[in-house]
Amino acid sequence: MTDEAQLIQSVPTQLLIGGAWTDSSTGATLAVRDPATGEVLTRIADASPEDGIRALDAAVEAAEAWAATPARKRGEILRRAFDLLQERADDFALLMTLEMGKPLAESRGEVAYGGEFLRWFSEEAPRIAGRYGANPEGTGRMIVSQRPVGPCYLITPWNFPLAMATRKIAPALAAGCTVVVKPAELTPLTTLALAALLIEAGLPEGVVNVITTSSSKEVSSPIIADPRLRKLSFTGSTPVGVQLMKQAADGVLRTSMELGGNAPFVVFEDADLDQAVEGALAAKFRNIGQACTAANRFIVHEDVAPEFARRVTERVAAMRVGRGTEDGIQIGPLIDDRAVAKAVELVEDAVGRGAAVETGGSAIEGTGTFFQPTVVTGVAPGSEILRQEIFGPVLAIATFGEEAEAVRLANDTEYGLVSYVFTRDLARGQRMIDALDTGMMGLNVGVISNAAAPFGGVKQSGNGREGGLEGIHEYLETKYTMTPDPFA
Ligand code: ADP
Repeated sequence: MTDEAQLIQSVPTQLLIGGAWTDSSTGATLAVRDPATGEVLTRIADASPEDGIRALDAAVEAAEAWAATPARKRGEILRRAFDLLQERADDFALLMTLEMGKPLAESRGEVAYGGEFLRWFSEEAPRIAGRYGANPEGTGRMIVSQRPVGPCYLITPWNFPLAMATRKIAPALAAGCTVVVKPAELTPLTTLALAALLIEAGLPEGVVNVITTSSSKEVSSPIIADPRLRKLSFTGSTPVGVQLMKQAADGVLRTSMELGGNAPFVVFEDADLDQAVEGALAAKFRNIGQACTAANRFIVHEDVAPEFARRVTERVAAMRVGRGTEDGIQIGPLIDDRAVAKAVELVEDAVGRGAAVETGGSAIEGTGTFFQPTVVTGVAPGSEILRQEIFGPVLAIATFGEEAEAVRLANDTEYGLVSYVFTRDLARGQRMIDALDTGMMGLNVGVISNAAAPFGGVKQSGNGREGGLEGIHEYLETKYTMTPDPFA
């Protein structure tokens, strides 16, 4: 048996409910495919709405004991999970490449990044703090304490199968919440393997429950409508996020929403072009362009745009495309046919409005869902590629003249997740921090994600922050208690 087949065979294929691996109540299964070959890797349980409620039952049942488990102990379990993940880093990396398609080197990077959430929140658990002090009138004492929110439902996307799971599970567990996790149906194996690892690390039964399903809406709706659920955390597209927020409103649930992005990448005439080109390639082509943080609109000063375009085109034209398991591959397959069709449409629309294709520009015929790494220049205002999230390896360049115009173009979107700015002028960089309406910014850098930083967006990119000092508060409720002054 090949290493790949052996690895796939070691991954659980059932639902995890109350500490037991179980089949779907209907016996249904769903296929998980390798997007590079289209081949079925394995079949896993396809949960029904009843299974979803059983998973919530288990999370509810485990909630009290987990909340009462000392924070130090919760942290130690997360820390053990971090250590186990390091030992199994190669397996987790290969598993992600197989089910999602990203090059192995990037999968290894995600194991490092995703693992950090386990370590970071293992350290945050014992630091959950409160306050005690006199009220301003001097008539009483005020106690402010933090309590776990309660059972949470966590819905994750396919593009970062490990990191999106640990970024939600780790803070929830650190805070003392129990969870039901629903990974994307396209990439469920990494979450199933992670759940097995958490159990091995000593997690009590029912604290993490995993449901995999091809009927996300039908399975999720009853969970979200259940009055025992207290929190919904979602990462995915804005339209689905909007739907989920509406459903969550009925139960007045706490929500964290990490939604779409349309990141501007602004290159000023005074930028260090070497740095800007490196930043651009990382911000655009990481994860085959399938990241909500991916640079979507390159807004480059007209004086440096030709040189910037020449340099990125040279690099992009030399990128190696192929199955992510092969050595030296930089661009793997897109996740499915729809993603390829969208890239085709966006490039065609831009070209129809006068843009020029400098390299690439088409889908790659044959097995798998590949799209050529692409650069288009002279993108006209109003082009769809400037409005929609591309989620593919297409670098689209538009130009500007004045700083104010760059700001106006950068902010001309309903999204507000991240912006990238390249300038050597410190004062200008500082002006941009205030001027750009995004939750995050890369100033002279193309990759910003870090477990110690608050990740999240404004406008239609969502609400709430994951990671950093802020991350654990998404899973904590603040309770205030008033008592009379003991000396009065
Ligand atoms: P993407 O563009 O990343 O596929 P989606 O928003 O479609 O984004 O999916 C993100 C996650 O949300 C996945 O786990 C998917 O199964 C889930 N999902 C999609 N639609 C719904 C829905 N109506 N209710 C609950 N979950 C959903």
